[in-house]
Amino acid sequence: MRIDKAERLKRLPPYLFKEIDRQKEQVRAKGIDIIDLGVGDPDLPTPPHIIDALKRAASDPANHRYPSYSGMADFNAAVARWYQRRFNVDLDPSKEVVTLIGSKEGIAHIPLAFINTGDVALVASPGYPVYHIGTRFAGGEPYFMDLLKQNRFLPDLEAIPSEVAQKATMMFINYPNNPTAAVATKDFFERVVTFAMEYNVIVCHDAAYSEMAFDGYRPMSFLEVEGAKSVGIEFHSLSKTYNMTGWRIGFAVGCSDIISALGQVKSNIDSGAFQAVQIAGITALEGDQTCVEDMRQTYTERRDILVAGLRSIGLSVEKPRATFYLWVEVPQGYTSAGFASLLLTEAGIVTTPGNGFGTAGEGYVRMALTVGRERIREAVERIKDIGL
Ligand SMILES: *Cc1c(COP(=O)(O)O)cnc(C)c1O
Repeated sequence: MRIDKAERLKRLPPYLFKEIDRQKEQVRAKGIDIIDLGVGDPDLPTPPHIIDALKRAASDPANHRYPSYSGMADFNAAVARWYQRRFNVDLDPSKEVVTLIGSKEGIAHIPLAFINTGDVALVASPGYPVYHIGTRFAGGEPYFMDLLKQNRFLPDLEAIPSEVAQKATMMFINYPNNPTAAVATKDFFERVVTFAMEYNVIVCHDAAYSEMAFDGYRPMSFLEVEGAKSVGIEFHSLSKTYNMTGWRIGFAVGCSDIISALGQVKSNIDSGAFQAVQIAGITALEGDQTCVEDMRQTYTERRDILVAGLRSIGLSVEKPRATFYLWVEVPQGYTSAGFASLLLTEAGIVTTPGNGFGTAGEGYVRMALTVGRERIREAVERIKDIGL
């Protein structure tokens, strides 16, 4: 028989990292030692006290059964306490918090709650691909808001045509930002709230990198802004803060009507996160936070080495205040894909071409600080040797 994929899969844009993946395999097959700055996945292990909490919880038969759909009451309460401590934001854990199987899961599912066929979702370009793909899977159309250097990689809300804004039902934003490493200002969040109220747009703020910030800078929560809790929610993840990408645990918080609609979608699709993982998540949020400070220290050191090294070669890059990414301008005469390909074939270094995150990412490559200091120094030497 013929296996015919649904339109929603056929209509997906081509996978832009396919070419780089193919080249990576070729380089690897030649036996060349690869330095992978491509993936946004921490190379460091989960802190031991969190692993110990999981081990204990995994042995308890009470945790072997189906968890609650909206998350364990204890986990949601820990999230609310964390928001209070970290951002001074009050949340009702029974109505304003939902546990997710990683924040990607919630981001992918939320358009099902609010998008009707043909509705528009405002999505940043470049951006995390799940925003526009989740929108398309729900039958909606993404409208891309370009993140440009001259706007400090914040979307220009005034540039959105009013007929697009009228049709929009959702907006996805993400600060500290993947892939540009940009950070938001309070003023920007306030403009988002005003825009959302004017056009009746649900705001989804992805704050996966809120704790990965340097030099004393502490990103704010979107929910700290007046009115934000009536228009939006914030997605969070333990993945990057506690090196827990493989564990699949995150959460969304904010407007109770939005949270409950997301919960309604989820209760019809999944059955929640493993309770033992949620219990370990409580330990992560409420235990010793030295590990978070260590994580910041590690990435600060790596960032400083790579930024100084790339600048010494003549490459143009800003020193990020947050995230573990460098958004590096490609030298004149190269495209994103061309430069990424050069780094891979001539230096064995994997980077991510910026256009893979959306057309407005053209002209950049993203480098992730997910290898140790010696490997970063080695990467700089190798790029130097290409003789750009
Ligand atoms: C890594 C990342 C996430 C986190 O995803 P999880 O599913 O929680 O692991 C979310 N958003 C962005 C932009 C990311 O880079």
